[in-house]
Amino acid sequence: MKFETKAIRIQTEQTQHREHSTPIFPTSSYTFKNAEQMRSMFAGEQEGNIYSRFTNPTCREFELKMAALEGVEDAVSMASGMSGVFGTLMTFLGQGDHIIASRAIFGSTYQVLLNWLPKWGIEYTFVDSNRMEDWEKAVQSNTKMLFVETPSNPGLDIIDLEKAGAFAKTHQLLFVVDNCFATPYLQQPARFGADIILHSATKFIDGQGRVLGGVACGSHESIDEIRRFGRNTGPTLSTFNAWILTKSLETLHVRLDRHCENALNLAKHLSHHSQISKVNYPFLESHPSYDIAKKQMKLGGGLVTFELKDGIEKGIQFLDRIKMCTLSANLGDTRTIVTHPASTTHAKLTESARQEVSITNGLIRVSVGLEHIDDIIADIEQALG
Ligand SMILES: *Cc1c(COP(=O)(O)O)cnc(C)c1O
Repeated sequence: MKFETKAIRIQTEQTQHREHSTPIFPTSSYTFKNAEQMRSMFAGEQEGNIYSRFTNPTCREFELKMAALEGVEDAVSMASGMSGVFGTLMTFLGQGDHIIASRAIFGSTYQVLLNWLPKWGIEYTFVDSNRMEDWEKAVQSNTKMLFVETPSNPGLDIIDLEKAGAFAKTHQLLFVVDNCFATPYLQQPARFGADIILHSATKFIDGQGRVLGGVACGSHESIDEIRRFGRNTGPTLSTFNAWILTKSLETLHVRLDRHCENALNLAKHLSHHSQISKVNYPFLESHPSYDIAKKQMKLGGGLVTFELKDGIEKGIQFLDRIKMCTLSANLGDTRTIVTHPASTTHAKLTESARQEVSITNGLIRVSVGLEHIDDIIADIEQALG
């Protein structure tokens, strides 16, 4: 089956009611026919649901779809993207271990490495995506994991997944990819040797700004281990959110096609604007990693960033002039969202720390929605003045 068909046709087995659309199973626990069935399920001799902290049919449908779409054996869902990130780190890293991560990663992932892992004796080294020749120097005898995000948030830096995969293999590192910005429709990191693929399902997978969710995808063996962490610690995806997310996957390909078409059109349009010094979009030829993006991504994604000539002040003024688009922290929504990282999400960093992750003072991030492209362009144009 092709990607689109899997996203629609993988479905929980039909119940006696012969429903067509997938049902939702909001139940915290399950019943047993007799003592022997209960005993054997608790012993793990027989498969079956016991308690929804660990398994639930609605969550399972979402997991099986995600595994199929990423082209891996299994997946485990989590309450949010961050619980998926944290669960993966906690499962595979322990005291005395070391992790290498690309510097331009999601803000909370960065904070976990910086502030929480050291509390448990886990060391980290950040590396630059555009200087892979330096990555070798970061490897230590206790390095266990390579963690990358591509395209990155918000700089849209691209990491060459083929090279990163080869690097992880050479040094026998667990290769973890946060695939949130691309979704499996645009990019399947397992093809480049990724062991664990993570998603914040809150973004394009929901795609309509409704629920939080996360998922980790990989081999049976590694997902079983993450699932055990979740079973014992409880970052379970709610049944309702799982139902929303599995329904959303049915339209992922259609939505992404339009997100990417709108984003490319906006990027091209803004490339010639007098107030803008630079437009960043993976599928614009001017992007520094255009060739790599073309090699590993089907389309360029739904995010565009651009650089205002007059920095911080102009960025704040731009946000204040926006009329239709939304000022919001989310991304991957049907509604176009604009943010100014230097005055908001990344305001606490020093200017040079921001530069290291490609966030300049005048950088505007646009999560391009599904409104008509003419309306998106018109609003951004009028806000540019
Ligand atoms: C939003 C995001 C996360 C965190 O996901 P939540 O669902 O908000 O917890 C992780 N990685 C990336 C790249 C993200 O954009």
